[in-house]
Amino acid sequence: MTKILPHDLDARFSTRAIHAGQRPDPTTGAIMPPIYQTSTYAQESLGVNKGYEYARGKNPTRECLERNVAALEGAQHGFAFSSGMGCVDSIMKLFKSGDHVIVGANVYGGTFRLFDKILKNFGLEFSWVDTRDPQRIADAMQRNTVAVMLETPTNPLMQLTDIAAAAAIAKRGGALTIVDNTFATPYFQNPLQLGADIVWHSSTKYLNGHSDIIGGIAVLNEDELAKRLQFNLNSAGAVPGPMDSWLTLRGTKTLALRMRQHDANGRRVAEWLANKVGERQVFYPGLASHPQHELAKRQMRGFGGMVSVETGSKANANAVVSRVKVFTLAESLGGVESLVCQPAGMTHASVEPARRLEIGITDGLIRFSCGVEDVEDLIEDLEQAFAGL
Ligand SMILES: *Cc1c(COP(=O)(O)O)cnc(C)c1O
Repeated sequence: MTKILPHDLDARFSTRAIHAGQRPDPTTGAIMPPIYQTSTYAQESLGVNKGYEYARGKNPTRECLERNVAALEGAQHGFAFSSGMGCVDSIMKLFKSGDHVIVGANVYGGTFRLFDKILKNFGLEFSWVDTRDPQRIADAMQRNTVAVMLETPTNPLMQLTDIAAAAAIAKRGGALTIVDNTFATPYFQNPLQLGADIVWHSSTKYLNGHSDIIGGIAVLNEDELAKRLQFNLNSAGAVPGPMDSWLTLRGTKTLALRMRQHDANGRRVAEWLANKVGERQVFYPGLASHPQHELAKRQMRGFGGMVSVETGSKANANAVVSRVKVFTLAESLGGVESLVCQPAGMTHASVEPARRLEIGITDGLIRFSCGVEDVEDLIEDLEQAFAGL
């Protein structure tokens, strides 16, 4: 269990991002934490060791990452996993057969697949709720409700949930609030400060930021809950290797710089698209026309680089994604390079077509992950890709 050091929480965001959880290596003075590429640790005698026994449980490079991200979210504990899905799987195994979980209807497609196609078979009950309206969360609470799982903003429709309102409802019913903070990142949104109990990320995305690893991380404050999650992590073993931990740690150092640029580029791209196709067809919480713009301003410090647009048809969507030159047609998001995808056929292909339409993911919807390139190049790319549409 990686507990954060008190001084790691003191500094401002970028200083924490660069220093928290890391010290120059005590043996050599190396300024960067070593990649401890080892599976086991020598023990001095029976029961005497340096606190490390086997690397599934603990690895020093991984601990640096865990402390670093915990510090960024203002949390006491961090747990790194080999993927976002491995992370949420271990979180869900805090619960047991017969427990009931309220989940946002519009969460990441892989989260839906894990819950609906696998965990349901083990006796966990799920209610899929439009969590934009806190009253619907309150209405869905049952005697056996153990958790409310939110994603805000959601992928790809950029719908928001009022985290403080949802957490208050969950707390009244004795349930935990769990938030997927992948899209906003701790630079723009801190769910623990709004009353959430566990925050998790696909660190594959903005935290690492360079599209070169798959990873997940969970952070939380409560010591007892942290012990249980550490137990799950060590028992199920979905842990990241030291090299991936190290790369993610290198990524978080520039999180503030990158997020400022993602946000600036996201705003410009959203405005350009709103001009081109009409603001009602553009999904971006930073637009004044977004139905939850006021909540976005209250709950987030920026809006990020994710922008979705309804092009009207699959043919239009295909025209745009085949013509772009700076944006690359690919799944995933949050890297320095700009990407575009068609959620219906790509990220949300595992969601049944009827359910996709119900939540608003049409064949004409495309999603942009605005990278940190010069925004003029992104706009010129969109101009040629949307020409004649
Ligand atoms: C990618 C993603 C996940 C899944 O994470 P992996 O690292 O791909 O396992 C979960 N939630 C959101 C919002 C994501 O974008």
